[in-house]
Amino acid sequence: MGFYPDRVVGHAVPGINGGHRLGKAARNTGQTCPCGSGRRRAECCGAYLDAGRPAPTAEALMRSRYVAFVEGREDYLRATWHPSTRPVSVALDPEQRWLGLDVRVTRAGGPDDSEGEVEFVARARVRGRGMRLHERSRFVREGGQWRYLDGEAPQG
Ligand SMILES: [Zn+2]
Repeated sequence: MGFYPDRVVGHAVPGINGGHRLGKAARNTGQTCPCGSGRRRAECCGAYLDAGRPAPTAEALMRSRYVAFVEGREDYLRATWHPSTRPVSVALDPEQRWLGLDVRVTRAGGPDDSEGEVEFVARARVRGRGMRLHERSRFVREGGQWRYLDGEAPQG
């Protein structure tokens, strides 16, 4: 997932490049994954966030990046951002609480592809205001690693 700060600044949605910090204490291996897959975190995005396994598909990387926003994992966001578009730092807003993720459409992005797109809607609440981020993110795979390249708001 993107939340590309340069793009987001122009939108009337505050704190879109933020993430809610749950902290290590809120995590446990039995918890349901925040990405909404319905699987346990340790068997879903935790495998990429904590165990260091490369995400096999663009969608898997996108979901794990959403979880990184939820958990305030700036390190993971930077590590999975393509070097050509990676910001110097990822500003996470501690006031932002992520509420859920819906993956709408995926295009390519499979284990044998080198490019992929994932369209999603993420919902959050910031200082009492609900917000909704609808983005089509682009990913590229190099050296066996999927990375987030950039994103745009889908037309229409
Ligand atoms: Zn997950």
